[in-house]
Amino acid sequence: MRRDKFEERKIALERILKLYALAEKGGKYETSYLKRAKEISKHYLVPLPLELKRKTCKKCFSLLRPGKNCIIRISRKLVIVKCGCGAVRKYGAK
Ligand SMILES: [Zn+2]
Repeated sequence: MRRDKFEERKIALERILKLYALAEKGGKYETSYLKRAKEISKHYLVPLPLELKRKTCKKCFSLLRPGKNCIIRISRKLVIVKCGCGAVRKYGAK
């Protein structure tokens, strides 16, 4: 039986959103949820939604919470997010 790629990706995205919802609650499994979400997105070629991608640290896979584990600075053109682990991420400010 041929698997339906479209259906597969829809399920993958649902799983990713569920994992983020779980990670959002915090707790010790937060990083493993986010790692798993990343794996799913790679495996099924589903891009992570931009707002979720920006909420995740690429280095330590923690959920970025402004004021708690990350610092956000806004310059004229860039938003600079610095995670507690030292990773820095920049993206254009609208
Ligand atoms: Zn980090």
